[in-house]
Amino acid sequence: MSHRSADFTNLLNTTKKLLSDLMSIPQNYDVMFFHGGGTGQFAAIPLNLRALSKNVENPTADYAVTGSWSHKAMDEGAKYIHTHKVFDIKKPFVTVPDPSTWNTNPEAAYLYYCANETIHGVEFQEPPTSLPGVPLIADISSNILSRYFDVSKHGMFFAGAQKNVGISGVTIVGVQKDLIGHQQPHTPAVLSFKEIHKDNSLYNTPCSYGIYITKLVLEWIRDLGGVDELEKRNKTKASLIYDLIDSSEGFYRNPVDKKYRSRMNIPIRIKEGDEALEAKFIKESISRGMISLKGHRSVGGIRASLYNAITIDETQTLADFMKEFMEEHK
Ligand code: PMP
Repeated sequence: MSHRSADFTNLLNTTKKLLSDLMSIPQNYDVMFFHGGGTGQFAAIPLNLRALSKNVENPTADYAVTGSWSHKAMDEGAKYIHTHKVFDIKKPFVTVPDPSTWNTNPEAAYLYYCANETIHGVEFQEPPTSLPGVPLIADISSNILSRYFDVSKHGMFFAGAQKNVGISGVTIVGVQKDLIGHQQPHTPAVLSFKEIHKDNSLYNTPCSYGIYITKLVLEWIRDLGGVDELEKRNKTKASLIYDLIDSSEGFYRNPVDKKYRSRMNIPIRIKEGDEALEAKFIKESISRGMISLKGHRSVGGIRASLYNAITIDETQTLADFMKEFMEEHK
């Protein structure tokens, strides 16, 4: 099927409409599909928005670094713009300083944050506020459509599809239309908001099969009751695991400040990081059909990723296993 055929254009437009309806994306935003993953957007953002900085001599952008992904975004961004951290917290990333204390810059091209830090399990419960005239940008790769997200507070948001909306290869970008067209002259066409917007995401061959899968996932979400229903399920799922951790008298521990605990990614340590016991836990969980509970290689331990596709029953199976394992080893 040609990606320029009427059939595919139809599919693409239906996918955009489904997403716009599910996320209540206002009319003055465009939804686009990019290549390059979240990582591609780390570069696309400064390339497209650098010109918005009111510091013409030394264009600058604000970053809230709350974990590995916002850190990576800032490091990549620094190739194209002067980056400024709005607070300086050291590892391990377990909380977020109160946004009212952030050292934000009125001359910044944008204020960037990661709504859910996938590795550290740190999630904003609501978006921070940017200064007037400074667009707020959110990386929602690992919590898109898992909870209510107020698009209208943001100049732009983006998400790789592979966690909650499909398969890798599709990157969803929503941009306020008046932020389109400010790109640097050397911006690669595949990262240019202007080029991708102008051709309705068909500047070059898009990840057409991935967009098709995204359409199916969005229909599934619509039919089960939309984001409200998913948010309810996700709260229930997260509580099953956090309640067990909190009542385990230190056998399990989640290090994150309760105010910023993620509903999607729950890092867990056993007995303050008993690696042998954690390895045993992971081995046994695999033998029971629960794969991918190993924590990210940069932090170790265990991580339960409760993305939209994980059911309440499956989460209960994990909770039951955790309980059993604790009884046996405490
Ligand atoms: N942001 C977040 C929050 C992520 O979790 C990831 C990937 N795990 C990325 C960005 C990078 O995305 P990609 O691998 O699609 O470049």
